[in-house]
Parts: sequence; C-alpha cells; structure tokens
Amino acid sequence: MPKYIVVAGGVMSGVGKGVTTASIGKILQEHGYNVTAIKIDPYLNYDAGTLRPTEHGEVWVTDDGGEIDQDLGTYERFLNLDIPKRNNITTGQIYKTVIDKERQGEYLGQTVQFIPHIPDEIKKRIKDASNSYDFVLVEVGGTIGDYENIPFLFALKSLEREVGKQNLSYVLVTYLPIPSHIEEMKTKPTQQAIRLLSESGIFPDFIICRAKKPLDVVRKKKIETYANIISEHVISEPDIETVYQIPLDLEKEKLGEKILKEFGMKSKKQPNWAGWKNLVDNILKPKKNVKVAIVGKYIDIGDYALADSYLSINQSLLHAGASLNMGVEINWLDSKIFEGDKTQENQRFSGHKKSHRFFSESLNVLRDYDGIIVPGGFGSSGVEGKIKAINFARINKIPYLGLCYGLQLAIIEFARNVCGLKDANTTEVNPKTSAPVIDVQPAQREILEKSMYGGTMRLGVYASVMKDKTQVLKLYEETGRLLEDTKRLQELIKDKRHAFRIGILTKGNKIVLERHRHRYEVNPSYIALLEKNGLVFSGYYIRGDKTKLMEYIELPEHRFFIGTQSHPEFKSRLGNPSPIFYGFIRACGMKK
Ligand code: GLN
Repeated sequence: MPKYIVVAGGVMSGVGKGVTTASIGKILQEHGYNVTAIKIDPYLNYDAGTLRPTEHGEVWVTDDGGEIDQDLGTYERFLNLDIPKRNNITTGQIYKTVIDKERQGEYLGQTVQFIPHIPDEIKKRIKDASNSYDFVLVEVGGTIGDYENIPFLFALKSLEREVGKQNLSYVLVTYLPIPSHIEEMKTKPTQQAIRLLSESGIFPDFIICRAKKPLDVVRKKKIETYANIISEHVISEPDIETVYQIPLDLEKEKLGEKILKEFGMKSKKQPNWAGWKNLVDNILKPKKNVKVAIVGKYIDIGDYALADSYLSINQSLLHAGASLNMGVEINWLDSKIFEGDKTQENQRFSGHKKSHRFFSESLNVLRDYDGIIVPGGFGSSGVEGKIKAINFARINKIPYLGLCYGLQLAIIEFARNVCGLKDANTTEVNPKTSAPVIDVQPAQREILEKSMYGGTMRLGVYASVMKDKTQVLKLYEETGRLLEDTKRLQELIKDKRHAFRIGILTKGNKIVLERHRHRYEVNPSYIALLEKNGLVFSGYYIRGDKTKLMEYIELPEHRFFIGTQSHPEFKSRLGNPSPIFYGFIRACGMKK
C-alpha cells in the first residue's frame, strides 16, 4: 500500500507549497523510493485549459493531453517524471463525475449528497492515481481556511481512517512574516493556520516554515508548543536564490530521514546529491552568461503576471544553462515595438525582476542578444512584430528558436521573404489570405465553428519521425532523448486510448516525443515550395489517414534556426534538459 503525504498551506498562497511538495518527492526519490504527486485544485473549472494565463499562470500540458495547473510542471521538473492528467483533481471534475453518475442511475435511487458522495469521489480519484507507488504526495491547493478546501480536507481525513494514520502524514507549509516596521518574525498567523487545520481534525506531523530568514530557536519552540509536535519536525525553509536549492536545504535538516522514520521506514539507498548540487552551483555561479530575447505579446497584464505566463520557457532555459554551466539572462520584448506602434513605445514593464522588462527600441535592439525566441501564442495581436524579429534573426544569423506559433510565424516569414508569397499568412490572422501557409485542419475547423474551446486543441504528446542528418535529430541523439524501441513508446503504442499519438510508424524510424497545444498546422500544399527554397522539415507526424503534419523546421546554413510545432518546454527537467533548448543555449554561447 502506498504511503500518503498530504501537503497543505497556511497563512497565504504563493509561499512555495508546490516546490516544497516537489522537493519532498525529490528527497524520497534520492532515498530510493518510487514517488508520484497529485495536485488538488479547489476551483470549479474542469481543467486549466480555459483559464487566462495572465491570471493563473501558464497552462501545463501533460503527455496524455491534460491542460493542467503549473504545479504538475513543478513536480515533473523536479522528479523527472511524466505525470498523467488524472493527478490533477479539480472541484469541477469531482462534481461533474458525481452528477454524471447520478444521471446514469449509478447511485441506485440514493439521495446524492455533499457528504459522503463528494469526498468518496475525491478519495477514489486519489487512490486511482496512487497504485504502484511507494509514496504519493497530495498537495491541497489554496490556503487552509478557504471554504472551497473543506470537501478535500474532509476526504483526506477519511482517507487517513481508511489507510491508517501510520500510512498517512500531514505537512503544513506555512509563512512567517517579518513586518518591516517591527523587524520581528511573527508566528501568530502560523498558530492560527494550525488551529484552522485542527478544525478539520488534522494535526500536522511536520511544519515547514517559509520565511525571509531561517527560523530561530525561540520561534521554533513557540510553534512546537502550539502545534504540539516535536521541534525536529518544525523545519525552516528560508528564501533562496533558486527553487532547486530547496531539496538540498531540507536535507540539511534531515527531512528525508525524519519522514521515513515517521512511517517506520529506512532509506533504501544512500542519497547522492552531487549531480543535483553541481547543477544548482551552475545556476548560482555560471561560468558564462548569455542574453536571450523572448519576443511575445503582452497585453492586459498586471505588474506581476508576466514571468509566470511563460514559466516553462524560463525553466527550460535555466535547465539548459545549468547543464552547460551557462547563465541565461532573459529579456521580454513586446513584439508591438517592432511594428512602430507609438503607443507601445516607451512602455516599460515595471515587474519585480529587472530581467523581465519591456524595451522601447526598434529592431536593432535585437543585435544585443545572443539568441531570440518567439514563444507560443494565439490571435493576431503583435504578430507582424514577431515576424519582423524572426526576419532579423534569419538575416543576421542570430540563433532563433520558434515554439509552436514561433514555428508557424517563421514559415510565414520565409514564405513571404524567400519564396516571394507576399500575402503569406496563417488563417488564424487572415482567413482570406491568398497564401494560407498555416491553416486549420478540417476537424479543427468544425470545432471552432461550434465554439467548443475546452480541451479540443491538438493536445499532449505526439510522435515525430525524424529526418536523417538534420540538426534537430542530432540534438535529440546527443541528449539521449531519441526513442526507437523504448519502453515509453511501447507503452503508448499498447494503450488504445493513446495509440493515435504515435501515428503511422515504419520499422527503424527515429522517433521523438513532445507535447502539443495548438489548432493550426503547416499547410501540406506549400511544403514542396518551402523545401525547394531551402527550408528543411526535420520531422513530421504521420496521422492515421497518412497526412503528414510538420513538427520541426531548420535552416541548414544558419547557426541555429529551429522551429517546432510542439512545446518542448513541457519536457524539460533539471539534469535532463530539453534537447532543443540545450542546442539553442549552446549556440547562443558560441562566438559569432
Ligand atoms: N495559435 C497557434 C495555433 O493554434 C499556435 C498555438 C501555440 O503557439 N500554442 O495553432
């Protein structure tokens, strides 16, 4: 039977519950255990797919096509695992399942009630996601005391009764403020969080104390007395420079051993943190730095939302840098400044990080960068500016990485300026273009006409057959990410629900897997023309009806000009970086 570790947050949101959960998982992995993590999101949305990224952070996409909360991304990045969508539980999903079951007569005439039917469904979902693991971390979203948490806490208490307290532990992640006017660390909000938790019958076994500074003995003692737990289980987690330091810091407090002891267990292997520590050192003190411009559209944002809406790209650049011992300075450029839009000139982003500012200069500003990225996006806003930036990167031989929309717009740029199709466009921007080099597939057109937006894009992992001797293939080979006959590929082929993700394969095909989230595709009728003019399609997916959907492009004579229809940022992990990002950062670091 798996052991459960429930992680709940007190005092306020945003204190790092997700990274703490992921760090506990990483620690248990290092001690030799098989771990998974579940995120509970108490909102009514069925999934995160229709949530505005500027409000909620970027949408995370799983292998099996889930559009999920970012915390699942944090787990994958720390644990180097592909976590399926069932590991994200929302209130909306629970209610929908219960109501669907009721409509299908599955409750056999019972009165369907909040208790027990809602908590029972929650428990079922947790157990379904748990089998075959030694440890299951369950992170409860929001903050203790939120009304919407109640059914989940109730369900977890009931799970505790079912599996026995010896198989379930509670971790409270709390925050200790140091108000500037008194310069003293306060424990009262934590005491109140403990009390609120106890109202659900839950008493924490561990309290992880987030704060600006380490916890001192006096405060530790206060919390120990108030929560009635031994002081060794009050763990200090002060602010750090990179979240990847957290497992190392928690291990300094011997958290792994303490958790295992709580369950009456011992380490299965001696943890070896050398590799992880080395990567963290590279993040903190890189040998060399490169500067990357991410040219995107930024509208309707408050001051602090920007970094989060492209979190996975930031992380992928960081991971690639860590493996190459290179630091990456990221600057966010609003593509509209390249369109000569005066209202956007001089607009400066006053975010919390210096490196996330808007700049007001025109295209020449791009000369200051070692590389340029055009990230994923939707709609027509800022598109012409992005195309200009791509043109600049192509002509000036600056490393360019196009992610999803970034590939589509690179094709438009190439079609216009190399193939002479002046009107080339995507039908997403101009449905009447005479050269629709990027177009929507018929099945997707129907979906759009019916406004069925939730969960209907081309989502999740798809196989790409790679073309020999291409730069992209080489990158996947050298980073060990190529799949020919590996377990993961076989798993997908065998799973009837997901076999379509593999498409049609021929023996000996070199395959890579990346995740997707888009509706539009390279229009097959323009491929021959683009190829004739020198664009190389380095990989494609072959659909069941034999249609080839283009997955990668590259320009052979360019230092690094690569685009992908996928989002490789969803498969980047510390110590196992995305091949494309790795190649990009390496190219950025090379002499011009
Ligand atoms: N808007 C484009 C499409 O739907 C690209 C999407 C993306 O970049 N994720 O195909």
